[in-house]
Amino acid sequence: MSHRFLRRAGAQEIVQKLTAKAILERKLIEEGDRILIAVSGGKDSTVLAWALSSLRPLLKINYDLAGFHISSDFCACCKKSILSQRLEEWGVPFTDLSVPIIGRLKPGRKMNCYWCSTQRRTELLRYAMEHGFNKIALGHHLDDIIETFFMNMADKGTLLAMPMLLRYRKYPVSLIRPLGYVEEQQIIACAEEKEILKAACTCPFGINSKRRDIRKRIADFTNNSSAVKRRIIMALSQGSNDLLAESAGEKGKI
Ligand code: SF4
Repeated sequence: MSHRFLRRAGAQEIVQKLTAKAILERKLIEEGDRILIAVSGGKDSTVLAWALSSLRPLLKINYDLAGFHISSDFCACCKKSILSQRLEEWGVPFTDLSVPIIGRLKPGRKMNCYWCSTQRRTELLRYAMEHGFNKIALGHHLDDIIETFFMNMADKGTLLAMPMLLRYRKYPVSLIRPLGYVEEQQIIACAEEKEILKAACTCPFGINSKRRDIRKRIADFTNNSSAVKRRIIMALSQGSNDLLAESAGEKGKI
């Protein structure tokens, strides 16, 4: 996709084109797929729901969509009713499930993002399998992928990013990340055009400080240049060691 197109097109068109490119290039969606979208009420997953819905007639692939939201015992989502209304407008049925994430902690254990995301992932998987969904779509974008790559390298000494397609070995479900080629700033611009509320995270546990730190370092390193970030993604997906390619794994237990 040319830089000239990215400079001239509107935000919605850019998100659609980059999402379609990811879907087709990475074979994220196939005929007959039933896709459960993990929607938090934030801009990323809401834009993802809009993009997948608006691309349905253009991609010439038949697939079903549904939105799945998790309400927790520490973060009441005040955007839930607006979210369900927007999704219904886009032809995406909405379900909300209450999960006592803190309530499930063993005595003496402290709440943290790892525990929270494991609980959420487990519920997503369980709901997907019980209701016949074969794919779960997550709203991670290009900047999330770059941050994860640098965090894994700096903290764990591993060369790992987020695969755009991950098939579970044990379960008949795959994770897909159709916004993997879209930058966060493009999602923000699209959310503004679509009047999608930019829901600030009201979670009292907030963003993980390591991620915040790496985000700042990446911004300094890339000078927030789109071209540099795209070259990093290109480098991550080259050759036999394509870090965005389909992989098999099994995070989350049922
Ligand atoms: S920031 Fe809050 S909602 Fe997000 S994973 Fe961490 S604990 Fe969970």
